[in-house]
Amino acid sequence: MVFEIKAYERKIFNLLSEAALEINAPTYIVGGYVRDRLLGRSCKDLDVVCVGSGIELAEAFAKKLKPVPRLVTYARFGTAMLKHKDLEIEFVGARRESYRADSRKPAVEEGTLEDDQNRRDFTINALAISVNKQDFGAIIDPFNGLADLAKKRIVTPLNPLSTFSDDPLRMLRAIRFASQLNFKIDPVTFEGIQSMAPRLSIISKERIASEINKIILSNKPSRGFLLLDEANLLKQFFPELTALKGVEIREKIAHKDNFLHTLEVLDNVARNSDNLWLRWAAIMHDVGKASAKRFHEGQGWTFHGHEVVSARLVPKVFKRLKLPLDHKMKYTQKIVALHHRPISLTKENISDSAIRRLLFDAGDELDDLMLLCKADITSKNKEKKERFIRNYEYVSEKLKELEEKDKIRNWQPPISGEMIMEYFEIKPSKEVGYIKVAIREAILDGLISNEYEAAFEFMKEKGAEILR
Ligand code: ATP
Ligand code: MG
Repeated sequence: MVFEIKAYERKIFNLLSEAALEINAPTYIVGGYVRDRLLGRSCKDLDVVCVGSGIELAEAFAKKLKPVPRLVTYARFGTAMLKHKDLEIEFVGARRESYRADSRKPAVEEGTLEDDQNRRDFTINALAISVNKQDFGAIIDPFNGLADLAKKRIVTPLNPLSTFSDDPLRMLRAIRFASQLNFKIDPVTFEGIQSMAPRLSIISKERIASEINKIILSNKPSRGFLLLDEANLLKQFFPELTALKGVEIREKIAHKDNFLHTLEVLDNVARNSDNLWLRWAAIMHDVGKASAKRFHEGQGWTFHGHEVVSARLVPKVFKRLKLPLDHKMKYTQKIVALHHRPISLTKENISDSAIRRLLFDAGDELDDLMLLCKADITSKNKEKKERFIRNYEYVSEKLKELEEKDKIRNWQPPISGEMIMEYFEIKPSKEVGYIKVAIREAILDGLISNEYEAAFEFMKEKGAEILR
């Protein structure tokens, strides 16, 4: 079969062909680029393999571009990389890898195209396109990768057991591709993953997290998480999540399966937001339920305070998975901590001051918080679900109304510490802080309006009282 070269690719393919001829090294485009293009997905990474020196090929190719791009070479690995427009092109000589049981690092030596295709993880990732004169554009497909692309099937080219034992990261890649592309993992390949699952322990947390994030960013991330669980991989790096599995029944009262619920919430969020960290908040929002779970005789199950436990687990899980511990983690943690507030508000006699407090606490994150909150309504009971949605909409409406009126979101104190010190002629002290807090509380409680004048009057009165 011949690959249909698009107009925007033709120049690159032709130049690769010329460079290959110049250095006399048969050259192919391989792997992800071929797979994604055949699936009609956009692809920004182009991997080029030649039977010869990848660095020499890259040098010959780079000279043909105008302007000549900067070439980054890694002599130790025999690879070179350059950027051209929005493409990142990587060059490498065809390799043969052999693994030994006692070492994770394969012995690498020069090889043929076939050797290079043999070391690839899945048949759909082992496709190559020739850019050589004699068969320019031909697809070289030793493992029927094209058929597997058509059948939407993830299958290893060689024995799955050795494939996964050699590099256990491939187990996560299989599941990631299944989730990302909506493909099925071939049953024998999946059994291979299940039996090699304990080998995941030799893989670094960074590499695990990078695959997990790709699963989370897929259209329907539950697919990937269910497979991770079924393959016995998930509990190895995320036991907090698998602890939510299952249903307990007492006095004929069951609680919901919080693992399945969490995945449903994650899918709901994924339908409405591409924000990785909001999706992480969905994954983490209920992890505290495992330890907050209580049974009350004659009444049923409660998970009081689970959001506090969940929020506490966010930095712990992020640290373990080497995820960022900066503002992204803080954002995730904040949403998790607040996720129960909007709906639980409706259980009280909903007051303006409670709404103002939510606006104040959520600040910039209010819209994302509400998105998670809506996604969190998954009850199978139609009546219950409708009631929750009505409550949600009521709170949403109230939030909007009060924000328009009081502008509490992104609240800035109308009276600064300096103003307090100047008026009372005092130095920086804890009393200044008390006065500031009193003003804020009065505004949130609706005792005074969120304005300079009202706040100033209040400050005079309250300050005199505090400083007495
Ligand atoms: P993506 O770019 O979406 O992560 P990809 O398949 O292109 O997917 P890369 O990491 O870019 O993944 O790797 C490019 C190619 O290298 C793959 O298509 C595959 O042929 C091969 N490859 C990558 N990682 C492995 C691995 N762990 N084992 C075997 N082959 C691999
Ligand atoms: Mg790639």
